[in-house]
Amino acid sequence: MKPRAAEGEQPLSLLPGVGPRRLAQLNKLGLFSVEDLLRRFPRDYEDRRTIRPISGLEEGAAVCVRAMVTDEPVRTRIPGGRTMARCRAFDSTGMLQLTFFNQPYLRLERGREYIFFGKPQPAGRGMGMVNPSVEPAEGARAAGKLLPVYPKTGDISQSQLRKWVRAALDLARGHYLEPLPAGVAEQWKLRPPEEAFEAIHFPQSPEDAAKARRRLIFEELFVFCCAGQRLRGKGRENPGPPLTYHDPEGFFSALPFAPTGAQRRAVEQAFSDLCGGSRMNRLLQGDVGSGKTLVAAACVWLAARNGRQAVVMAPTELLARQHRATMEQFLAPHGIPAELLISAMPAAEKRRVLARAASGEPLVLCGTHALIQNGVELPAAALVVVDEQHRFGVAQRAALNQKAHPGHLLAMSATPIPRTLTLILYGDLDVSVLDELPPGRRPVLTYAVTEEKRQGMYGFLQKEIDAGGQAYIVCPLVEEGEEGSEKKAAAAYIGQLQKALPRLRIGLMHGRLRPAEKEAVMASFAAGELDVLVSTTVIEVGVDVPRATVMIVENADFFGLSQLHQLRGRVGRGSRQSWCFLMHHARTEAARERLQTLCRTCDGFQIAEADLRLRGPGDFFGQRQSGLPAFAIADLATDINVLEAARQSALDTLARDPELGNHPLLAARVEEVIQKTLAASMN
Ligand code: ADP
Ligand code: MG
Repeated sequence: MKPRAAEGEQPLSLLPGVGPRRLAQLNKLGLFSVEDLLRRFPRDYEDRRTIRPISGLEEGAAVCVRAMVTDEPVRTRIPGGRTMARCRAFDSTGMLQLTFFNQPYLRLERGREYIFFGKPQPAGRGMGMVNPSVEPAEGARAAGKLLPVYPKTGDISQSQLRKWVRAALDLARGHYLEPLPAGVAEQWKLRPPEEAFEAIHFPQSPEDAAKARRRLIFEELFVFCCAGQRLRGKGRENPGPPLTYHDPEGFFSALPFAPTGAQRRAVEQAFSDLCGGSRMNRLLQGDVGSGKTLVAAACVWLAARNGRQAVVMAPTELLARQHRATMEQFLAPHGIPAELLISAMPAAEKRRVLARAASGEPLVLCGTHALIQNGVELPAAALVVVDEQHRFGVAQRAALNQKAHPGHLLAMSATPIPRTLTLILYGDLDVSVLDELPPGRRPVLTYAVTEEKRQGMYGFLQKEIDAGGQAYIVCPLVEEGEEGSEKKAAAAYIGQLQKALPRLRIGLMHGRLRPAEKEAVMASFAAGELDVLVSTTVIEVGVDVPRATVMIVENADFFGLSQLHQLRGRVGRGSRQSWCFLMHHARTEAARERLQTLCRTCDGFQIAEADLRLRGPGDFFGQRQSGLPAFAIADLATDINVLEAARQSALDTLARDPELGNHPLLAARVEEVIQKTLAASMN
């Protein structure tokens, strides 16, 4: 957060009534200049355009009433040291009961007309309002208007903030500069900034606000896309460690199977980056099971043939171990060692691995993001592979680039995401897509089932296990806040399952297990010593057990579609038919229909599009891990077409003026976004 108004910005002290105390309150909201205030956009509007007759009031949304106060408010003390004041007001159609809590300074004069704005609610035999906003009807300023409602106002009231915004708009009039390049506003029929700012805060009508919004969204996304492109360009300016090309056949020929066409294409694209002189910044996107690890291994192979080292960063220790195992399988025939670095490791072993890495010997080091980012010495490193990309946003990548990381970057995402989100999240990357599964895979047969079918499903499960299969059961255990409740719920679930199917060998996996315990459970499941693995969502990413053919998800209606798709991807990894049961208690048709999407298709991109449509981008990845930038006004769920337009304009602009030398104002805004992106990554 910036500590004060940036250079060239107007200080907030220019606004009426802003002294040191008010200034501190504004600063607390992240507002440091008049410009900041203008860019704090309303989250909604109060519609005070029409005055309603009291007799027609209904419970619900806030409305305006014009009424005469007939008795002065009677103030009483109520428990908790609070005060309550009540009075009545009339218009020609009826009586309105008014109640005010804790408003010691409120003065209403008998016989005077006021405009009250609030939510009507039943009071006695008529209607009333609690804590409505009040202004004298004569000379009323708010009535008849759409008033902005600002997000998070802290110690400052909405009406105070409105006054300051009004003053800020008056100060700014005539001083707006257009950051968009000439012609862009005309091309997309965008309003000039002055009109847009006026109308976003104090619109004449909802349509007026919508037009203003469109301009401001466009501007925000345009600047964002320029920033993404600039970051991408910066990545390219950095020379990557130059590698000499080797025919990937040398790597492919030692594999136990033939690579898919998509894998070959992705390997060629990556190799041409790696040998092209500038730094690779590539995203490898592919559905679960599409074989991304093989592509990464090929890149490691090329690095090693050049005498260089590589690292693979995974989000969890479990995955780090699995990557090590897969890398070993693919690279051992070429004599390339794969080492593991995780925190749950004997100190002596850790020292050995660190020493080996520091020796500069060609190898691949697999570990968690945290460990590897904490400065492992890899003097000959040429390549970083980052797995499960969606937990690793633009910001982290930018930081990695800044830290002069070992060189080329290959980011792998198991989550197929809609194109629009690709543009936002990965605008700074080149993208390879694995859109083809290895041959012989059968789609996982998926059914949405309800409680009545539980016994039947258990019967099926037993039969499948008798035939040599294994099963995952995922329970999103309801957090009751209480320590150990997760464990209790899981234990209860297992008890019930064991009672229904006494012969099953059941293991439990949950987030509170220590890494070594997780590893042990996973290992015995993989070795076939367990029939069923009951788990919280910790198995969500990456884990590979080809004999597992059944996935049961309890309370499936609590999950996002993309997450369910990820979970389902844990089965169907061998050649046998696999099944997925989505146990649910969905009450609405819409909720059932949502689950049907999964029963109908195994195409992760289609599912992702549906998920985005149904839940919006915030929920799409789970709020905190989204890696999505915080936009002041744009909403990725609804503003997708504006994004496409803004991106196209940004590309055109940068093609003509790559350094933005002819667009100094835009260049400054873009730089600001880049700096913010970098700063966000430091948290
Ligand atoms: P993901 O893209 O989900 O990370 P993995 O790399 O884990 O997929 O690969 C899934 C499984 O498919 C692994 O067991 C891997 O050995 C296997 N596999 C990868 N490529 C091929 C291929 N071309 N033919 C057959 N099996 C493959
Ligand atoms: Mg994987």
